[in-house]
Amino acid sequence: MLNLVLFGPPGAGKGTQSVKLIEKYALIHLSTGDILRAEIANATPRGLEAKKLMDQGLLVPDAVVIGMISSKLDANKNAKGFIFDGFPRTTAQAQALDSLLSEKNTSISMMLALEVEDEELTRRLLKRGLDSGRADDQNEEVIRKRITEYNSKTAPLKQYYSAQNKFISIPGTGSVDQIFELLCAKIAR
Ligand code: ADP
Repeated sequence: MLNLVLFGPPGAGKGTQSVKLIEKYALIHLSTGDILRAEIANATPRGLEAKKLMDQGLLVPDAVVIGMISSKLDANKNAKGFIFDGFPRTTAQAQALDSLLSEKNTSISMMLALEVEDEELTRRLLKRGLDSGRADDQNEEVIRKRITEYNSKTAPLKQYYSAQNKFISIPGTGSVDQIFELLCAKIAR
């Protein structure tokens, strides 16, 4: 199986690149942000609880997102592989993902990290907020909080995957196609 963690701060372009990667490699896209937004749209109790945190730019509890990923893995038993987008975001999530995959006799193939500077991220997210309708993209304070959460809780995962020799850094600036080519070259290696 090809199991990719697509990594990077909010606004790095994970969603955009995921769409292209799932098409090329026939993978299942698992975005915890998308799953949470679908739960909010359906007004599930879990979605409504998560919304309060998401609106403040805070992470939702590990147990919630780990449970969501676990059921998606069970629901896609014959998949060729997965792209994890926006997950894992904490060390506890990364450890849980490793054990969920090992129960299925598979593992993460590599972590592809899109690197973009904070100022460019804020600019991109505010622009996305103009047309996405996402509340968390429309408020500069919330955007800054998400970037702070990323730097304190999520960025350390680079170390986690480096220790497994799975960390690959990719510049997240340039055209969408240029970045996609770089990602494909690393996957092919
Ligand atoms: P972005 O990466 O652009 O911030 P996402 O769609 O990945 O957007 O996530 C939006 C929000 O959903 C996050 O700010 C967070 O509150 C919540 N969220 C998504 N994935 C996770 C996760 N793995 N762990 C905790 N919270 C998450």
